[in-house]
Amino acid sequence: MPKYDLIVSGGTVLDPANGFEAVSDLGISGGSIERIAPELDPADADDLIDARGKWVMPGQIDTHAHVAGIARNWDPALGYAMLAEAGTTTVLDLGGTGPNLIDGIKRRGAGLNVAGLYAMIPGATIADAEPSPSALSEILASALQQGCLGVKMLGGYHPFTPETTSNVIRASNDRRAYVAYHVGTKESGSNLNGLRELPELVGDGRLHVAHVNSYCRGVVDEPDAECDEALSILNGMAGRLNSEAYHAVPNGTSGRCDSDGNVMADVPRSCLRLRGYPTTRDGLKQAILDGYGSVVAQQGGRVAYVGGADALKLFDEANTNVGMSFPVNLPSSAFHLATAKNGSGEFAVDAVSTDGGSHPRNVAIQSTMALVQFGALTPLEMATKLSWTPARMLGLLNKGHFSQGADADITVLDPAINQPVMSLVAGQLIMLNGRSVGSEGTLLVTAEGVDVAKGSGLSYQVVDLSKSKLYAGYRDGR
Ligand SMILES: [Zn+2]
Repeated sequence: MPKYDLIVSGGTVLDPANGFEAVSDLGISGGSIERIAPELDPADADDLIDARGKWVMPGQIDTHAHVAGIARNWDPALGYAMLAEAGTTTVLDLGGTGPNLIDGIKRRGAGLNVAGLYAMIPGATIADAEPSPSALSEILASALQQGCLGVKMLGGYHPFTPETTSNVIRASNDRRAYVAYHVGTKESGSNLNGLRELPELVGDGRLHVAHVNSYCRGVVDEPDAECDEALSILNGMAGRLNSEAYHAVPNGTSGRCDSDGNVMADVPRSCLRLRGYPTTRDGLKQAILDGYGSVVAQQGGRVAYVGGADALKLFDEANTNVGMSFPVNLPSSAFHLATAKNGSGEFAVDAVSTDGGSHPRNVAIQSTMALVQFGALTPLEMATKLSWTPARMLGLLNKGHFSQGADADITVLDPAINQPVMSLVAGQLIMLNGRSVGSEGTLLVTAEGVDVAKGSGLSYQVVDLSKSKLYAGYRDGR
């Protein structure tokens, strides 16, 4: 009997948790890391992957993507293959429902580990515009029981009052449920003003702050000043927040207009104002014609951004109810947020995410590799932001590192072409040379989601969020 099911041989192994960076072999058995050594005997392996010249890092964990949301003209579950093709091995869906998540994994799963948050959308997924504390307790119980790790507040689209927002955070914290927030209340917006409310809203509680970059687009102040202030808010709340920022220039938003022809959500209105367009249906149409706005559409089994006349047609056919994208994210803000450290030498923003999945902007790995090439990050820092910290954010104790017994989730990167070229989950290949080759997936649930996970027939792992970075040192009785 061979000692190892698989040896990944001769790559530069990047394992920030263990401070390890060296050309080494990785021995895998039973889906777990068995041994790292300068040279393992190929005779001991049932299978061998030649990783010479490559970087071998713990599987990339995307802490903000969309694979289970409510989409109109595309299938969010296509995001699984798109993420796999981009080198991701574990994804946190930032806003769907448990049944959507499970259904999507069964139909279109690509072998990834998948966790989800329950999107709090009044009139759609929750009954009340401003849920009371007792309603919140029921929403949370239901979210966890249906297999989500917690909830997501979508302040850029369905903002609550500051009081309700604070109540959601508190109720989630009391249950040790995950709670993520696209900032913005009825008194602020999806911008720096929303971020400025955080200290008050969170108090000594805990919160995941979504896509910090999107509050640094120059809406409230000069972009550099917005980054500085965002970082100072995050640093002032260090230890109480999980945070991520993405690097893609295109954003993702909605084109939906009301019956008077006014754009409904705060995010698209800001996008239009940034370039001087009226915040109306006609303003959106002109932005599309000018090449500024794109419409999200399904093509060839993937999701793409469509522009020009084709986009206008989709926009009119759907009576404005389409996903849209504007090139509003600033590379200078992305760079600033990706590389900034706080006084303790820790990254101010925890992770690089995509806000992608079914949005075609899964560039976390390439863009972070580019920062290494640029000299702005070391290879170990890259692996920290793409895998090790994200694993801790979610309490995935067996992921994000290569200690003996860790899950054999691996992303192999080719520094010569700045691309992920291969990934494995539990020792099984899910991506090779940019093609997704896996199916289904592993559901990540809390103890309260075990019944639904079992019933789904999918494989699953139980996550104890009290062991996550989010809840490290957190005590009740605030
Ligand atoms: Zn998002």
